[in-house]
Amino acid sequence: MLKRIGRLWSYLEEKGCLIEENLGFLVSDPANRLYLSGFTGESGYLLLTPQKNWLLTDGRFTEQAREEAPGFEVVDLGRKPFEKMGEVVARAGLRELYFEEEALTVSAYRRLEEAVKNWPQKPVLKPASAVVEKLRAVKEPEELGYIQQAVVIAEAAWEHILEYLKPGVKEKDVALELEYFMRKRGATAASFPVIVASGPRSALPHGRAEDRKLKPGDLVVLDFGAVYHGYCSDLTRTVAVAPATDEQRKIYKAVLKAQEEALQALRAGLPGREIDALARRYLEEAGLGDYFSHSLGHGVGLSVHEKPTLSWREEDPLPARAVVTVEPGVYIPGWGGVRIEDMAVVEEGGCRLLTKISKGFLEI
Ligand code: ZN
Ligand code: ZN
Repeated sequence: MLKRIGRLWSYLEEKGCLIEENLGFLVSDPANRLYLSGFTGESGYLLLTPQKNWLLTDGRFTEQAREEAPGFEVVDLGRKPFEKMGEVVARAGLRELYFEEEALTVSAYRRLEEAVKNWPQKPVLKPASAVVEKLRAVKEPEELGYIQQAVVIAEAAWEHILEYLKPGVKEKDVALELEYFMRKRGATAASFPVIVASGPRSALPHGRAEDRKLKPGDLVVLDFGAVYHGYCSDLTRTVAVAPATDEQRKIYKAVLKAQEEALQALRAGLPGREIDALARRYLEEAGLGDYFSHSLGHGVGLSVHEKPTLSWREEDPLPARAVVTVEPGVYIPGWGGVRIEDMAVVEEGGCRLLTKISKGFLEI
């Protein structure tokens, strides 16, 4: 963990920030807090300085924090958290305090701003954007191992659920069975509420499982993942309930081809938007561009959606050892949808697929 904090300071220095004793970095994002400290509690801040690190939390978590985050001085924030934080900041002699602009609510920021006025050194508050998130994008070997295991658990659940999918079964029951199976296999949770969307509902990219029963002729989109050691997996398969139509087969094939082209091109150094554009162009040429309504993929790690993204907005080159999903989809209102999602590790000169289960057209 302390190595990761070292990387944080090096990263800030590379970005032109002068690393001095009186500089502080306040971490409020829960996944960033866990990443940098190992503390799994639900509440608290990290206050990092080049000399020393504090973990500020409340009475429910102080004991746990001491056990899980040995490199930190644990402070109980008590009833007046920002006043207490001010005492720590004063002791550290901070004149500049970076905060995570994506992870501090407006109300917390206002309270912090108010409190700073009463702090002895009155440090300047400076917004920092996605700093720890950039570090998290590059996975360590141990993290890759946990992610791979999260994928293995989800894949086993997929093999299991194929026996279970038949006409008359409720979406909700499919979702429950998937989650139950993953938990039995060692997942601490599902990465997100399981998506099972059948028939016309499969046109909803994030259709949560409902009471609808699978019917002959349906397309069924199943999107789910497991959490293992804090790390997520995320996979989607689409199946047809017999009898499948030619149009369903044709659209499935187009989505699969778009995904394969993107995976073929995926490598370190290319901006995410170029990979997104490749899949998008393919679907546009197939006359389906208007129905691909989301970005191509996203990073996966401690959070199921994290950096880097494969989206038209992502201009930064992809780093090696990032884990991303590649998930083109086509959603036609009233007709249904198809999405195919795999996870891959970005490498120099290519990518390594983490998802191994087959993705041929499947009629059940
Ligand atoms: Zn997914
Ligand atoms: Zn996804």
